[in-house]
Amino acid sequence: MTETSNIYRNNKNNPELDEKFMKEAIKQAKKALELGETPIGCVIVRDNKIYARGYNRRNTDHTTLGHAEINAIKKASAKFGDWRLEDCTLYVTLEPCQMCAGAIVQARIPRVVIGTMSPKSGCAGSLMNILECHLFNHSCEVRRNVLQKECAELMSLFFKNLRMSLKHQNQAHNPQLHP
Ligand SMILES: [Zn+2]
Repeated sequence: MTETSNIYRNNKNNPELDEKFMKEAIKQAKKALELGETPIGCVIVRDNKIYARGYNRRNTDHTTLGHAEINAIKKASAKFGDWRLEDCTLYVTLEPCQMCAGAIVQARIPRVVIGTMSPKSGCAGSLMNILECHLFNHSCEVRRNVLQKECAELMSLFFKNLRMSLKHQNQAHNPQLHP
């Protein structure tokens, strides 16, 4: 097996497998939702097996480093005993931010599969494209919009609930404004 085929042995031309693993990332995103966190989930796969899972825990853990991808990368690195995740595919429900895209490139992950894009904060093609920037010594192959509808609905459900709870809070704090 050549080095290249070794790197890409995981799902490259298998949309069904991509959907299967994105479903697992969505399960992780739902864990974040249960904690009241923005619902973003991630899994890291090698040889068609999930080695690490992660979900957004930024508020719960009081750290800006608590994003789904960072949590999953930490777990995968611990499992493999290596910071390099060179033959893995990372699945994430939302387009990565600048921090996570940077960590993905640093970890030399060759392939990233994204659920839905994030036009206001994404750094895999929306605001900029860190994952496919060939100025770095590593760049990724990216597949976008896998189970896009499900991933986007999860986000809009979260923000809808957030807006409703903020509205209720405002009403509770300012009852004179809402007789
Ligand atoms: Zn992030």
